[in-house]
Amino acid sequence: MPMNYKNERKRWGWVCGCAVLFVASVACAKSTVPETIIFAGDDNYPPLQWVDESGKNRGMIFELEKSLVERQGRQSEHRLMDWAAAIDQLESGEVDVVAMFASKKRSEKFLFTTPFYFLTHGIYGLRGSPGVSDVASLSGKRVALEKKGYAEEALSENHIAVIPVLREDFEAALRAVINGEAEFAVVPQQLANRAIALKKMDLQPLGPPIWPRPYVFAVSAERPGLHEWLQNELGLVISSGRYYDIFERWRSQIEWSEKAGWWRYKWLLLGLAGVLLLALLGYGYSWQMRNLVQRRTRDLEEALDSQKKAESELRHWASHDRLTGLATRAGFFSQLQTISRDKFQQKKSCVLLVLKLTDLNEIICALGFQIGEGMLAAVGQRFQKQNFLAVGHFGRGVFAVLAEGTVSSIEDLIDVSPLSVGGMDMEPRFGVGVARLEGIQCDVTEVLRQAETAMAVGASRRRYWMHYHPGMDPDPQALFVIRDFRRMQGEGLSVCLQPQVDLSSGAVVGAEVLVRWNHPSLGELSPAYFVPLLERAGLISRLTEYVLHEAVRIAAGLRHDGLPTCLSVNVSAVDLLGTDLYRVVLQALEKYQGRPEDLRLEMTETSVISDPEKVSEVVARLAELGVECSIDDFGVGFSSMSYLRQFAVSEIKIDRSFVSDMLEEDAHYAIVRAVIALAHELNMTVVAEGPEDNDTVKALMDLGCDRIQGYVFSRPVPLSDFYDIRTRTLAVGDRLEA
Ligand code: C2E
Ligand code: CA
Ligand code: CA
Repeated sequence: MPMNYKNERKRWGWVCGCAVLFVASVACAKSTVPETIIFAGDDNYPPLQWVDESGKNRGMIFELEKSLVERQGRQSEHRLMDWAAAIDQLESGEVDVVAMFASKKRSEKFLFTTPFYFLTHGIYGLRGSPGVSDVASLSGKRVALEKKGYAEEALSENHIAVIPVLREDFEAALRAVINGEAEFAVVPQQLANRAIALKKMDLQPLGPPIWPRPYVFAVSAERPGLHEWLQNELGLVISSGRYYDIFERWRSQIEWSEKAGWWRYKWLLLGLAGVLLLALLGYGYSWQMRNLVQRRTRDLEEALDSQKKAESELRHWASHDRLTGLATRAGFFSQLQTISRDKFQQKKSCVLLVLKLTDLNEIICALGFQIGEGMLAAVGQRFQKQNFLAVGHFGRGVFAVLAEGTVSSIEDLIDVSPLSVGGMDMEPRFGVGVARLEGIQCDVTEVLRQAETAMAVGASRRRYWMHYHPGMDPDPQALFVIRDFRRMQGEGLSVCLQPQVDLSSGAVVGAEVLVRWNHPSLGELSPAYFVPLLERAGLISRLTEYVLHEAVRIAAGLRHDGLPTCLSVNVSAVDLLGTDLYRVVLQALEKYQGRPEDLRLEMTETSVISDPEKVSEVVARLAELGVECSIDDFGVGFSSMSYLRQFAVSEIKIDRSFVSDMLEEDAHYAIVRAVIALAHELNMTVVAEGPEDNDTVKALMDLGCDRIQGYVFSRPVPLSDFYDIRTRTLAVGDRLEA
């Protein structure tokens, strides 16, 4: 069974190969066949072709040639001339097609169609001359031949050294015998018999016909497309019966016979002719097959060659980046393996740098894609010119270089002088991650990972370059946490409330809603840990939706119980930039019949400035709804308050890092004081986050701070405890200690 399958596959492989070749060659033929095909031939080769007394072309071949171009409506031109000139012109490309005897020698220069007729040669001498039994006996004799004709070639191929008497056509060769310039003529037999009879030449064949040869159309070997086209058309002319019609019209002329001379031996000759015909057909067939196989083999070899070329090109481009010509990640990796092995043996250490062109997106946005690509190509070229052990481009502006030794300063290794791109001078800026390859440290996968990790960490911390250290490695638990959050669909989540106290009255006027997650195996997880993970995993909006619904539900309950409280919910940058936040708020308000003034959204400075246009649009829509927004963690993001004011936020929350030590750190005290003053000037209320003691509260009161949210009054508590706390008041001023 497996053998059969193999054979079947082989056969199908061959059939498909041929089909592909055929389709390809037909497509190729279309483009290489001229509109007017120029045929050439002997001007005195009747009845196959000749120019008659009135100067018109005539003959069977002439008619056949015309019918070849008919089908596709092409034109044909027929140039008949001396045979030697015709064959020269075919070789030089001045003419396209010539009909001729097929021969081995000619097949080196020309491509042949399948034969359309078979012709033989004959040995002719003066009438009454003794017969010639064997062509070899012409050795040393003066033999008239057509110049560049097949007979000349066949004699030399058979090593029969005659004294050639060359004439421009077969008829002239026959006349050379009559004139005594030659003893014999060896010329195409069918044509010679007819000419001798019609022109009453005193000549006769001296033996049976020799050299049965296929008669074919030939084109230059350099024009396979034309050949393929011709072959196709000839096949159609033959199969459609048009060839038969033409041949029938010329049959009596071509198969001319004068019932004389050797015709006396007609029975013997007929028998011979029968044998000859069989041999001829067999030979013709095998010749044709051989030729076909040779041609197919050559085609296949060519196809294989170009396939090999294409494969090697493919292999190259699979490991190389087209834009920069540098190795891709895979290509660079394999270079890294080889080089590191060598360097390890030589006990030399290397350093691997992964560099990200930091401004690529900005360049593309500001100056267009072409300049961006130009920049990448220029950076690639610069790296290539440097003396690195290997250089690669992983795509989207991430490059990698391998250098020998250690690195103390990136500036020594990386040239950041301006590059000329599209007529502009541009300085390339990189974020660089560095890792070392040394000693037994030959695990290049690991080293590459380290360099890429260092680059990513550096980028997130806005650092120009960073050496890898194990502390950068991601938390292996993070993946499980993310997976579990996705799987558990909110199970284990809850919220608690941290009260906000109004400093002028000491009353609880609001609370921040803070999420809690009781993980089944890891226990209570801090939101400071899992919230950033969910943000990176694209899951934060699910959490926000949950918390928003809880907040509105709780606020509605508190109001219902006569304890209206404004609850603040944290939203992340991803929520603000997405499309859903407004809809989710609206849904929650509708679902629990909540009041918009009982809800406030907290957003950090950094998320506000990530896309100011979008955020201000969201804030404005929420304000229309009656939901106010506040800026969380103010002070850590370095943005100015007047800038933030344009986002229509009504509240500022001063970050705990300034509040908690404001009594110890003069600078922090100054910041808190300035923020409160400025916020009031801009009509915003101020919440101080994280006061833990009464002295700090007192100081905040003195500075006119509106509210506090800190452990000094209460930690975040579950809703059940919040009811109790909601009714408590903070001891203000003299009552602080109470
Ligand atoms: P945040 O928005 O700044 O929330 C205030 C955090 O400060 C809370 O930590 C709170 O417990 C803590 N805190 C308040 N007063 C004091 C104090 O006097 N001393 C000290 N040491 N800490 C105080 P928590 O609940 O662990 O939340 C941490 C962070 O997690 C939050 O910081 C917020 O960024 C994030 N987070 C919490 N809940 C959510 C949520 O539902 N959604 C989003 N997106 N983030 C949340
Ligand atoms: Ca907050
Ligand atoms: Ca905060």
